Amino acid sequence: RTDTPMLELRDLRVFYGAIEALKGINVKVYEGEVVALLGANGAGKSTTLRTASGMLSPRDGQVLFHGERIDGIKSHDLVRFGIGHVPEGRRVFPRMTVRENLEMGAYRFKAPDPDDMDRVFTLFPRLSERRTQLGGTLSGGEQQMLAIGRALMGKPELLLLDEPSMGLAPLIVRQIFDILEEINKQGTTVLLVEQNASQALQLADRGYVLETGSVAMADEASALLADPRVRAAYLGEG
Ligand code: ATP
Repeated sequence: RTDTPMLELRDLRVFYGAIEALKGINVKVYEGEVVALLGANGAGKSTTLRTASGMLSPRDGQVLFHGERIDGIKSHDLVRFGIGHVPEGRRVFPRMTVRENLEMGAYRFKAPDPDDMDRVFTLFPRLSERRTQLGGTLSGGEQQMLAIGRALMGKPELLLLDEPSMGLAPLIVRQIFDILEEINKQGTTVLLVEQNASQALQLADRGYVLETGSVAMADEASALLADPRVRAAYLGEG
């Protein structure tokens, strides 16, 4: 492909003190795609996402959005560029209602767009039923839905998701992945980090496998799903 990626991580090196968490990784996400970042615990998946979302700054390398450098721009400003982040652990505001949490997601606008609120309530009927309930009283799956809905209120072109399946029952995970597929069909590009390689590769167009801070494999999701090394290491086979 020769067109400019929506997001490009170029030769990224990221450190925590003296620990080199990313050792020069390259990742591209094209408009309309779902891309999955896979790998074992500590491989660097979350670090990659945190760097893309402006929570961490790379020591070397670049983060490009539509070909423009965005590394060094803070998370809350990247929302203005059309990058939405669903962080690890959801970070729902526990003392605000579902509706207020969603309104917070629209902070880059003068006011929340009621059409976006309707869209979120259509995608997540459970949130609609619980719109006056406090965020802290929701189940884990509902909080994940709320975190995704809140990000959608910022009208993201690109949605970054860190482990949406974390700690959730398989049925809820499936529901959330079905909704992510719908969100992607409606036009949002998705980059997601997942321990659940099977679910992630079923949804994704392409995937990258990280190992100790480097990209070990990069391929079409279907090729990764069929790869014996991926099956043995990440799909619990062999
Ligand atoms: P996990 O699924 O366990 O979060 P991951 O693939 O997302 O794994 P990262 O969280 O990106 O991995 O971690 C990459 C490396 O950086 C690991 O060696 C980890 O111990 C280290 N690391 C991550 N966060 C910090 C931190 N805040 N301070 C120091 N080291 C960190």
